[in-house]
Amino acid sequence: MATQNSITQKLDAVYDALLGAFGPQHWWPGETREEMIVGAVLTQNTAWANVERAMGRLKSANQLTLAALADLDESVLAEWIRPAGTYRVKARRLKALIGWILEAFGGDLDAMFHSDPGWLRTSLLAVHGVGPETADAILLYAGGMPTFVVDAYTRRVCRRHFLIGGDAGYAETKSLFERNLRPDADRYGEYHALLVELGKRHCRVKASCDTCPLRTDEHDATL
Ligand code: SF4
Repeated sequence: MATQNSITQKLDAVYDALLGAFGPQHWWPGETREEMIVGAVLTQNTAWANVERAMGRLKSANQLTLAALADLDESVLAEWIRPAGTYRVKARRLKALIGWILEAFGGDLDAMFHSDPGWLRTSLLAVHGVGPETADAILLYAGGMPTFVVDAYTRRVCRRHFLIGGDAGYAETKSLFERNLRPDADRYGEYHALLVELGKRHCRVKASCDTCPLRTDEHDATL
């Protein structure tokens, strides 16, 4: 059975291999905390290029602040963010999230991100349309809090490299990283970004192991 030390070593080795192969990813691509929060909702089930187009529209109309977004009518917001896909759903989710930030913190992001991390995560998860991946992306990238973000790529890579079982869900995968790596927001942020890059380039449903930076690590690409 793998010990905590050996899992830590393996996770560190994966990180080093990915960083060596891909270099720093410079995530999250938003310039302000507001942009990161909005981006975390808009990126649900779509490629980042679509998010950039939607954010570009909001930005060029000077609507990419919490105050401006709160004032926007939901149907108008939906039109602005149309390039991000499922735009009516996302407009409703954004309005709910921004409404909660204004209600709970008066829109003060410093106050928000100085809250107790456990309470803040639980509270975010109670907001309409905020699931674990969105909540953790907000906490990690906008708040600088050391919480690990898990996505489908992360689960696939971990499964194929025998780090989690086939039925492991979000919480178990997140816990794998948080139990075995020191809490470091910068490193967690880079690690998640590198895993996304790995998933996009190599560890797709049909894996390209031959050219993958993790090809020498024991794996089974059929999992
Ligand atoms: S592509 Fe192959 S070697 Fe690379 S992470 Fe996926 S399973 Fe592992």
